[in-house]
Amino acid sequence: MGLIEIARRNSVWRGMDYYNGKKVISLEKTGTETYSGIVSGSNGNKYMVKIDKAHPRKSSCNCPFADGRRVICKHMIALYFTAEPKVALDFLKEVESWEEEEEAREQQHYEELEEYVKSLSKTELQEQLLEALIQLEERQNYYW
Ligand SMILES: [Zn+2]
Repeated sequence: MGLIEIARRNSVWRGMDYYNGKKVISLEKTGTETYSGIVSGSNGNKYMVKIDKAHPRKSSCNCPFADGRRVICKHMIALYFTAEPKVALDFLKEVESWEEEEEAREQQHYEELEEYVKSLSKTELQEQLLEALIQLEERQNYYW
């Protein structure tokens, strides 16, 4: 598993913001799978960041979130995306195709629902509508 997979989604998106905002001040390739650099934080602090693609848990950053913990922070993600912009692009593409799939699933669900409703007789429709309206009313009473 890579840095992106291990990181929380929120950290990846924040890292994307930092990458787009050019918060990475310096970047150095220190090995075949490793980079180090300095990333500027939101409060003006500068953080020392090291990432290891082969062993993501060995990555480090001295920000309050990641310091001394084996977690992936937004500064590591920003450094990673800056070092390898293609990874950022692939991540966006993946999110996009996931959203398209989700949309297709939803579309299919509504089509099935419509088919089901059309298959009901008038009596069944009246019963189900009445039940749905009662449930709706009860739910509203519950919230109020
Ligand atoms: Zn950090």
